[in-house]
Amino acid sequence: MPDAASRPAEPSTIVCPGCGGANDADAVFCADGRCGKALGEFRYVLEEIERGRSRIEKVAHHVARLSGRPHFVTLHLVWFTVWMLVNSGLVAAFAVFDEYPFGLLGIILAVEATLITLFLLISNNEQNAHAEKRAALDYEVNVRTWRLVNKLDRRFDDLAGRLERLESKPNPGGPTR
Ligand SMILES: [Zn+2]
Repeated sequence: MPDAASRPAEPSTIVCPGCGGANDADAVFCADGRCGKALGEFRYVLEEIERGRSRIEKVAHHVARLSGRPHFVTLHLVWFTVWMLVNSGLVAAFAVFDEYPFGLLGIILAVEATLITLFLLISNNEQNAHAEKRAALDYEVNVRTWRLVNKLDRRFDDLAGRLERLESKPNPGGPTR
């Protein structure tokens, strides 16, 4: 952290390093909705996590997010209903391709369940790693803040000491009461 004397003047705007857009001086995130980059002096945990993600982890993250949504259940219910109706011969426009007890559907569901389970496990491991990274970044910010507060505290003590010494000095040229 630079000294007050060497510290540059407070800028009136912050230029986003991501998109180059100008933001208010007190902005925390880039105002551009497509960018949204964190503009702080510290590393932002979600950006750090996103940067460190491998391709398979990105896929696992999206699968875990999608499979936890109510739409996922609705989609499956619609899929099962249509599949069973078609393969029971109730929809004349389509030929039966997977007769009761719907063996092909069973195989597809087994593969889907296996893949989703594996992706959820990857996503779960990733979440644990993220919690550790988040804790490390929180610690970094806390240590920096603690050191800065201590530095300011020492400076205030120093200033108070100087003021006391100045006030206790006899002032021969000063006004007398
Ligand atoms: Zn931006």
